[in-house]
Amino acid sequence: YQAKSRGGGCHAFFDVALRERVQRHMDLEQDLRHAARVDELWVAYQPVAELGTGRLVAVEGLLRWQHPVHGAVSPGEFIPIAEGSDLINRIGAHMLRTATGQIGAERPGLDVVLNANLSPRQLDDPGLHALVQRTLSDSGLPAENLCLEVTEEAIMRDPTAAARVLNGLRELGVFLAIDDFGTGYSSLAQLRRLPLDTLKIDRSFITDLPESAELRVIVSSIITMAHAIGLDVVAEGVETARQLDLLRDIGCDHAQGYYLSKPVPLDELLSSGLT
Ligand code: C2E
Ligand code: CA
Ligand code: CA
Ligand code: CA
Repeated sequence: YQAKSRGGGCHAFFDVALRERVQRHMDLEQDLRHAARVDELWVAYQPVAELGTGRLVAVEGLLRWQHPVHGAVSPGEFIPIAEGSDLINRIGAHMLRTATGQIGAERPGLDVVLNANLSPRQLDDPGLHALVQRTLSDSGLPAENLCLEVTEEAIMRDPTAAARVLNGLRELGVFLAIDDFGTGYSSLAQLRRLPLDTLKIDRSFITDLPESAELRVIVSSIITMAHAIGLDVVAEGVETARQLDLLRDIGCDHAQGYYLSKPVPLDELLSSGLT
């Protein structure tokens, strides 16, 4: 009898927690509808450096949401919310316009590639090609200064459709990268058919690199195979000098991570001495 009543209390507890989660999701989705209009969404930039020279070669634009009540809401929370509604295309367009505008305006003083993330839903959007074309011409950012990142997941949902979309984008002259590599189920043999330029190795492979000889073999093989099909390799989530040294030793091309810099506002990027 006691166990049963405790079980009941447990249910009530989960009900409240679940109801609060659902409520927050609905609130955020509602607020996200005008966040772009009222400038609550802004773009942080994280440097990507060449491993041999330490030279800044690219910056990844990462969306930030400063909510008037909830404070900073992480993209890990609001991107999936946007992705689950029609909002992702609007927010993705806002992100592209903002970032190409800001990086385009700093040229030629700042000459880096801007990396921008495309969500799976954006890849399905028939207006994507025109959007990219228009943001490039409006911002004056040369196509070869833009690299669009897509995840394995987005590609594997429908590889034939993805190939068609990526080929169209490639014709605009932009670079294409596969993001979070190693977290999905694609193989380099499948990716070989796509017009990709860069492969970004997911942070989960980098974190324990110094402790694991197995991981070093795995990452080293990924790099060798990526190079064999003409891809440059970026290691994500580099947090220590030790990881950076190992990556350089096994022939990785570029690195991105807190060890080099966190994602920062544009003015901080410009005054960082990295540029
Ligand atoms: P992502 O594309 O894999 O971006 C890299 C994430 O790793 C960023 O998290 C970055 O802050 C974090 N990171 C970078 N270096 C380190 C490190 O050394 N250690 C650790 N622990 N983390 C590091 P963030 O900014 O929270 O973004 C999370 C995800 O949200 C992104 O993962 C991306 O999938 C999505 N996202 C962010 N901005 C956009 C956007 O504009 N459009 C779309 N579709 N997705 C976005
Ligand atoms: Ca990314
Ligand atoms: Ca990534
Ligand atoms: Ca290539």
